Amino acid sequence: MIKTISYLGLGTMGSCMASNLLKAGYKLTVWNRSAEKCETFARKGARVADTPADAVRDTELVMYCLSNEEAVEEVVFGAKGILSGINEGQIAIDMSTILPATSLREQEAYAKRGVDFLDVPVFGSKQESADAKLWIMAAGNKAVFEKVKPVLEHLGQTIHYFGKNGNATAMKLVGNLIVALELEALAEGLVLAQKAGLNLTTVMEVVKVADFRSPLLVSNGQNILKRNFSRSFALKLMLKDADLIGRFSGSLESPAPALRVVQKNLKSAVALGFGEENASAIIRALEKEAGVEVKARGAGRSKETEQND
Ligand code: NAP
Repeated sequence: MIKTISYLGLGTMGSCMASNLLKAGYKLTVWNRSAEKCETFARKGARVADTPADAVRDTELVMYCLSNEEAVEEVVFGAKGILSGINEGQIAIDMSTILPATSLREQEAYAKRGVDFLDVPVFGSKQESADAKLWIMAAGNKAVFEKVKPVLEHLGQTIHYFGKNGNATAMKLVGNLIVALELEALAEGLVLAQKAGLNLTTVMEVVKVADFRSPLLVSNGQNILKRNFSRSFALKLMLKDADLIGRFSGSLESPAPALRVVQKNLKSAVALGFGEENASAIIRALEKEAGVEVKARGAGRSKETEQND
């Protein structure tokens, strides 16, 4: 049974997962590029490491959740990276959203050191990560998966095993293609509703119950109406994922024409300065084009007045 874990990358997702592992009683070592994010973990009894190589010393399981390909390159393959400190018999799992080809490259590099590797990306955002309600996918050796499953059960509400390495990362990109198109559909729909003069609160009431409903549409739609773009999944990361999906689908000659529209709008919203906001800020690109701002009418007005709109 695994008792000692290293967690590297204490961003939005990683910090919540590492907290849940501490709560579950694992002996934890943490590392983050910006060292200040380690402080709360040190206060709760975690060992804070100086480098990725140092972080993976003397633990059974190494987990990390990093922004993008470049971060994985540095933290795994770089000087003082995980590979320079990890030893035979340890297990590594990468929870970042990256290309399946990168997962395979990681697996090969770890295998050369006698280390087992699983790609374990997740669905769900900040709240699901904090509540240990993530939807987790895992790929790699089945016996290794069975060994780490009890750890993953402290982080998520479902765990799906996808077979060989790279498949879980592929599933993550498939899912994020759907997420990207849902956000684009929501943004286009709300801008049209605003232009048509509909009561947007009532529009969202319908979105909540109709046969095209989804929790993602509801939470993002309600936040857009409140003009709340505080980040749980950064717009710049959605753009990063859209680019990964484009490369992945292109490599398989799988058509993704709508993705190109999403990429264009994500890029425009980043260019307007909204990259650090939530991915729902994709609507800002369409709002600019349409010359409107989508928000609930009459904040502070009575319900009766709203209903008469
Ligand atoms: P985040 O809050 O931006 O955190 C990113 C983490 O990566 C931070 O720890 C950051 O360190 C580190 N990092 C970035 N560049 C680095 C580099 N060059 N070297 C070392 N460390 C580096 O991102 P997040 O939202 O937690 O997302 C993490 C991963 O999970 C991404 O691949 C994302 O696509 C995926 N994901 C996110 C969500 C979500 O809703 N947020 C959901 C599912 C999957 P610093 O603290 O020093 O910046």
